[in-house]
Amino acid sequence: MTRTASCPCGALKAHCEGEPVGVSVCHCLECQKRTGSAFGAQARFREEQVTVEGASHQWSRTGDEGTSATFEFCPTCGMTVMWRNDAMPGFIAVTVGAFADPGFPPPKRVVYETRAHPWVEVHGIEERWD
Ligand SMILES: [Zn+2]
Ligand SMILES: [Zn+2]
Repeated sequence: MTRTASCPCGALKAHCEGEPVGVSVCHCLECQKRTGSAFGAQARFREEQVTVEGASHQWSRTGDEGTSATFEFCPTCGMTVMWRNDAMPGFIAVTVGAFADPGFPPPKRVVYETRAHPWVEVHGIEERWD
């Protein structure tokens, strides 16, 4: 099965083949800033599962652990559709919201729960990273 993630204007798309390797939610402040929401949700795929369509702009950020993430966002509407982390070569993280599919596989891992807004509760978590 192929699922397609896209920005709201549709200019940047990621066609993702098969199931994600993992789905996670991150409560870190950087994800809050990046998404404009209270947390980020992303699905990790192997590079070979993902076909990108359309042009993107890129921005890199170095995180707390010294690793760097490169975000790819739509030059027209600005939404981040995907990113790569240099600590996880060969994988690409696609933002769950970009699939606009409430039936998308749910997150099993939560990251930076210590920075979660107190009203946020994510069900079905099996793995917690801080
Ligand atoms: Zn767009
Ligand atoms: Zn984060």
